[in-house]
Amino acid sequence: MILHGKPVQERVLAEVKAGVDRLKQASGVTPTLGVVLIGEDPASQIYVRNKKRAADSVGIVSRDCLYPQGIAQRELNALLRALSADPAIHGILLQLPLPKGLDETVALAAIDPEKDVDGLHPTNLGRLLAGEAGTVPCTPAGCLEILDHYGAKLEGAEAVVVGRSRLVGKPLAQLLLARHATVTTCHTRTRDLGEHTRRADVLCVAAGRPRMITGDMVKEGAWVIDVGVNRLDTGKLAGDVDFDSVVTRAGAITPVPGGVGLLTVAMLLKNTLAAAQRQAAR
Ligand code: NAP
Repeated sequence: MILHGKPVQERVLAEVKAGVDRLKQASGVTPTLGVVLIGEDPASQIYVRNKKRAADSVGIVSRDCLYPQGIAQRELNALLRALSADPAIHGILLQLPLPKGLDETVALAAIDPEKDVDGLHPTNLGRLLAGEAGTVPCTPAGCLEILDHYGAKLEGAEAVVVGRSRLVGKPLAQLLLARHATVTTCHTRTRDLGEHTRRADVLCVAAGRPRMITGDMVKEGAWVIDVGVNRLDTGKLAGDVDFDSVVTRAGAITPVPGGVGLLTVAMLLKNTLAAAQRQAAR
């Protein structure tokens, strides 16, 4: 089974749009996202444009907060705190990576956790670890959304996550654990990667290494979630999974492009709606 992201994305966006409409009608609140972009990195500008377009399509307003490359950490923190205190802003998106010289961890901590729609504030990461309700990082949430949409059985499953970043690997491992999978996290110091991946009923790969997972590393019938997005020299996009050799062994696999990548922005908008709903209910 090919786990296409499109139908999942369309369902999530339709649910968010319906939620936005209901919130507007019930309380006159229009969910508003403050989009913070530092500098002029072309890739970040494209990501931000796509997020704003998607927000627009579901009725979420996005407000641009553009700052020059040379902004000081203290100034950025103060701006994030000011946005956090602005009652007209329900969610804050800080486009990462930040330019050199700015500390992401410090900047993320300056955002009100209730407006942290990327789920990367230490409070939200802590809530995830503690098993409490909080905002979950968008890409790992998108992986779960795909697995659930297509009916993967997680309880009791052997789940292996390749990658341990704050953005993807670690929160994804926690989400799978919360769903009662037995979770192994692999990284660059893992001694025999294949030994672990071959045990996986659910294999999630977020390493940023094009086509590193080959068919011989995958158990027959496994569900394979490929988070990787890598630009090859040819200009084409490739995942971290070698699709052609894995597709013949896996029971289910996400394509790249067209898989997990389609869910990240949809989950950001879902988080933004949830933040606006919480703030409207206060
Ligand atoms: P990252 O911060 O670079 O982390 C990569 C992780 O993979 C690290 O934990 C690293 O281990 C591990 N790793 C790297 N090479 C490995 C290897 N050969 N064997 C085992 N583990 C290895 O990357 P990220 O931000 O998590 O992103 C991962 C991938 O997902 C990238 O391709 C990125 O573009 C993609 N991504 C996609 C989306 C989306 O919306 N679809 C969103 C975010 C990221 P160490 O900790 O030991 O260094």
